[in-house]
Amino acid sequence: MLSFLDDLKTLYNYNLGQTVLFKNREILIDGKPFFIQEWFSKGIILISDLLDEQGQLLSYQAFKAKYQCKTNFLNYYQVRSTIPDSLLAKTKNNNLEPLSKSIFLQNHSIFDPDSSTKVNFETAKVKDFHWLLNKQVNNSPHPGPTKWSKSMPICAKQWEKIFISIKQVSRENKLREFHFKFLHRIVVTKKELCRFGIKNDSECLYCGEQDSIDHTFSDCLFTKDFLSKVVQWFNNCNRSTFKPSNQDFLFGIFSILPIKNY
Ligand SMILES: [Zn+2]
Repeated sequence: MLSFLDDLKTLYNYNLGQTVLFKNREILIDGKPFFIQEWFSKGIILISDLLDEQGQLLSYQAFKAKYQCKTNFLNYYQVRSTIPDSLLAKTKNNNLEPLSKSIFLQNHSIFDPDSSTKVNFETAKVKDFHWLLNKQVNNSPHPGPTKWSKSMPICAKQWEKIFISIKQVSRENKLREFHFKFLHRIVVTKKELCRFGIKNDSECLYCGEQDSIDHTFSDCLFTKDFLSKVVQWFNNCNRSTFKPSNQDFLFGIFSILPIKNY
């Protein structure tokens, strides 16, 4: 769980912890992170608490005068010498002090990696952490629709409608499942069967041209012929002049949704 949280912090660039003085994996005394109760109670929490206004580490005299701690000269310089230059530079460069201090002093159960995200450790469930991960990892567009959009102009708003239509196109779960796979282009044709080594060639079963999802469902002459016959039959039966476009054939017609059966 802790290593998962570390991954999340990396994804969200959540690095407040790095500028904390205590229990910091990068600030070690005798190879171990440390904690000094007296310092903590006097408000020393961050590396920046040991810096003066110019961003330099406080001298022992200045430290004594500012915090009135019992810590002796040697202990203070031992702590000073363990702070890596990289963390000192980071502390000088960012102005996180007010925010990070309030986190450590007021509420230990809130994790807010960015301004729009807040998770309460006391009430969070697994799905909340999954959502946190998902939000950061899966923010690129789906490859299926992206590839479809290369051959036909479908905007993001239309894709939204197309995906919502999955539930509306049919009552049959099998057909809904097929439509979902089709939108994501995970329908297997001879091209894929050949790539997986299941078929020896990737030629269309009907016309002999190279098979693919585009070929099977729209480019193949046999598919075109079949679709035009279906439309002709439909128009004859209904005395209509229905002329669906290639996009209508593939993804449905939204002006007349919801359709409950096909
Ligand atoms: Zn074909």
